[in-house]
Amino acid sequence: MAIFAKRALLSTGWANNLRVEIEGGRIAALHAETSAQTDDVSVDTLLPALANLHSHAFQRAMAGMTEYRMAGRDSFWTWRDLMYRFTTHLTPDQIQKIASLVYMEMQEAGYASVGEFHYLHHQPDGSPYDRLAELSDRIMAAAVETRIGLTHLPVLYSYAGVGKKPLETGQARFGNDVDRFCMLVDQAKDALGNLPEDCRVGIAPHSLRATCSGDLARVLATHGEGPVHIHIAEQPKEVSEVMAGLGARPVEWLLDNVHVDANWCLIHATHMTEDETQAMAASGAVAGLCPVTEANLGDGPFNGPTFLNAGGSFGVGSDSNVLISLTEELRTLEYSQRLRDLARNVMVVGEGSVGQTLYCGAAKGGAQALGRDAGVIAKGKLADLIAIDCQNPALCALTSEQLFDGLVFSAKDEVVTDVWSAGRHQVRGGRHVARDQIVSNYQRTMADLLAKL
Ligand code: ZN
Repeated sequence: MAIFAKRALLSTGWANNLRVEIEGGRIAALHAETSAQTDDVSVDTLLPALANLHSHAFQRAMAGMTEYRMAGRDSFWTWRDLMYRFTTHLTPDQIQKIASLVYMEMQEAGYASVGEFHYLHHQPDGSPYDRLAELSDRIMAAAVETRIGLTHLPVLYSYAGVGKKPLETGQARFGNDVDRFCMLVDQAKDALGNLPEDCRVGIAPHSLRATCSGDLARVLATHGEGPVHIHIAEQPKEVSEVMAGLGARPVEWLLDNVHVDANWCLIHATHMTEDETQAMAASGAVAGLCPVTEANLGDGPFNGPTFLNAGGSFGVGSDSNVLISLTEELRTLEYSQRLRDLARNVMVVGEGSVGQTLYCGAAKGGAQALGRDAGVIAKGKLADLIAIDCQNPALCALTSEQLFDGLVFSAKDEVVTDVWSAGRHQVRGGRHVARDQIVSNYQRTMADLLAKL
C-alpha cells in the first residue's frame, strides 16, 4: 500500500508531494515531488505518530469520578484508595473492553502505539487465574482488536512500601514475588505470537516502594533486556520514604545502584535535584512524562530546562487516562513549565519552535521507550504515521515552520484524520475503523460495572 501526502516531515526535513510505500509494516520507499497513483491513500500533512509511553488502561473507567472534594484535603493518596476499591470489581472481560476503548481513543488522538504498564494480574482475592497471564492476554486482545502497536509491560509489585512492607488488601491483585513474576513474563512473551511483529513485552518494576534491591537485581538479570519502565519520583512522600529506607533520593539511588541505560524509561521523574536531572539525562534513559495526569494528581512540574539542556530524551504518556489527548499532553507539559518559571517558550534549547521540539522530541523518545523502531519518517522505519488536516482553521494560516506550534498550542485532536500503527490504517476520516463496536461494548461494560460498585 502507499500514502500520498501533500507535505510530510521526513528525518531530513519537509518534503512535498510525497509517496510513502509501506511493506510489512515498514516504510519501504519515499518519493518526493511526485504524484498520487490509483489506490493511494491521499492525505494533507503526514507526520511521525507518537508513542503513548505510559498507560494504565483500566483507570479510564474512573475518569470524572475523583474530582469531587471530600472532607479534608483531597490528595494523590485518597485518589489511590478509590482506584484500589474500583479494581476489586473488574472482571477480565471488563478489563479487555475498557482497554479497547482506551487504545481506540489513543489512536484517534494520534498515537500509533502504547506502553501498557500492567499491574492488575490476579483475581480480586489475590489468587492467580488458572492461566497466570490471563489479564496480560486481555490487554493483548484489546491490542488485537484496535491493532495498536503494543509494548506490554507486566509490573513487578511485591511490597506496600520501602523495607518490604507486606501488601495491603487493596493491592492483592497486583502482587507477585520474583519467581512468579518471571513465569508471568514468560507466558506473556509466548502470547506475543498472537500479535503483530512490532509488538513487544518488556518489564516494569513498579517503583522503589514496591520492590527491593535484591528482587530488582534478580528480575533484571532474567528479563532486563528492555524495555524496562519504573515509576520513580512522583510524589514528595515517595522521595522521603525512599530517602528514609534506602538513604538516597529515588533517581539518585537508581542511578547509583542499577545499570540504567537507553533501554530504560523513568516514569514521573518529577522530583529531582539538578544533579539527579543531569545524571538521568546522561544515562540515556527516557523521561516518561505524563503532564495531564501529573497535573490532575497534583504531582508537580518536571525539571524540563535542565533536562533538555543536558541532552535528555523524553516522551509522553496518558497514564491514568483521565483525558486522552496528544495535543493537550504536549501543551500541558510546556504550560507547567511556564507557570512555574513565569516565562514563555521554555521547552526548547536555544532558539527554535517549542511545538516542534516537543512533538519531534516526544516522537523519538516515545519510540525509544517502547522499543519501537519508529519516531521519524525514514526508509526502513516502522510506519507509525499520522495525517493532519492543515485546512482546519487552527492550522490553515500557518507556514511549515509554524505548523507544530499551531498543532501543540492551538489545535484540538480533531485535526488528526488518519493514523497508521506499523502500517495498519486504523483511523480514517478521524474515526477508528472499529469505533462503533468498541464504544457499544464499553457502554455495556460500564453499566454492568457500576451496578456492582
Ligand atoms: Zn503510572
